[in-house]
Amino acid sequence: MQNLVKSSEISSIEAWVPRGLIGNPENILSIPVTEEGLCPIRICWVDQRVISLEKIEDSSNLPLKLLLPRLVEPHAHIDKAFTWEEFPNLSGNYDSALKRNLEELKVRSIENLIQRSEKSLNLAFKNGLRSIRTHIDSFGFSGHQYWEALIDLKIKWEKLIDLQCVALVPLEYWSSEEGCLLADRVANWGGLLGGVLVPPCRGKKTFKSLLELIKLANELGCGIDIHIDESSREPGSGLKQLIRVLDSFENKVPITCSHLSSMGLLSPNRLKYMADRLASHQVNVVALPFTNAWLLGRKQNETPVKRPLAPIRQLQEAGVTVAIGGDNVQDPWFPYGDFDPITLISGALPLTQLAPWERLGLAPFTTSAAALMGLNWDGTIKINGPANFVILKATTWAEALSSKPCRELIVDGTRFDEETLSNSPKADAFN
Ligand SMILES: [Zn+2]
Repeated sequence: MQNLVKSSEISSIEAWVPRGLIGNPENILSIPVTEEGLCPIRICWVDQRVISLEKIEDSSNLPLKLLLPRLVEPHAHIDKAFTWEEFPNLSGNYDSALKRNLEELKVRSIENLIQRSEKSLNLAFKNGLRSIRTHIDSFGFSGHQYWEALIDLKIKWEKLIDLQCVALVPLEYWSSEEGCLLADRVANWGGLLGGVLVPPCRGKKTFKSLLELIKLANELGCGIDIHIDESSREPGSGLKQLIRVLDSFENKVPITCSHLSSMGLLSPNRLKYMADRLASHQVNVVALPFTNAWLLGRKQNETPVKRPLAPIRQLQEAGVTVAIGGDNVQDPWFPYGDFDPITLISGALPLTQLAPWERLGLAPFTTSAAALMGLNWDGTIKINGPANFVILKATTWAEALSSKPCRELIVDGTRFDEETLSNSPKADAFN
């Protein structure tokens, strides 16, 4: 294979690597950088660890590949992925999505759940993901069964994909006896507590439910990730409640706000104030541009030009860690997608006006997503770092993002080429 040399001891690859993702810049100070921020580098590794990064001197023999770290999906729903065919939401709005989701839940079986989740993990692995945070519909007795099935899958897949699970229930469920039991089990399984906070969310009831959730998570020492303000109405009203709660309680667990879409509709001053408050409480944000662009702000016979979306740049400016996720895949909430992080980058860039050649443009898909998920590896390519790469058949960002590029993977030092990947990878590939 071109550009890849492997011996029994040292393997190496020559590739273009984004400057912002090189963790040892001191080793390659004089390296040339293209206008798109890419550096031609030879990376060598032994077993699972990178041992050297060298600049490529010969400018007449530059690499033909673009190398990224294996990527991270900070917000997914693998339990309901691929339910669109049976439960389509043709009107494309939030209320119908919820209605169809609840209809599907009534007939959801463990077999369906496992089959869909495994299909999701398979695709995600092939497409270059190393870690996924998935929200799981967890209400009632079935919720416990879903968790058991997903935890079995988590263990089965752990050598290929790190799966983080978040229990998705109505917010007030965490104040009930059943909710406390679920929280206890979720904490034992290493999961996170989730919920949904959308308008109307004024009043004492919401405040109390949020406070109970945060207290419970602190007692159990597990993180929180809530769907909040996924709406085009009452901008930032869920966020306002969250900040009031955090002002009244000394929180010590990581909190992620997923969506935060209507925050983008606040006035600039109000937005800045809220972003600063989020930063002061060290709350992280996952922006989900695909689902937001599809579901929110729909009006009959009108093309919406003002779109609810987390104000990514203003949040970054305030010091908030912001990741970008894919969210739903072929379910009532979003009809498209296939757990492809490269498609996510190419689709999200025009919606967010971020650019991959800027550090803060690439971070939401790479280092910020890893930080938000608390992963051991920060996602930079560095000496002693893991040999875990996605290698694209492209030499520029424009080429990489213009079509679905062919790719190879290096997983813990082992190569998975296109042929290997086209045969269904097995979760026990490393056993
Ligand atoms: Zn979601």
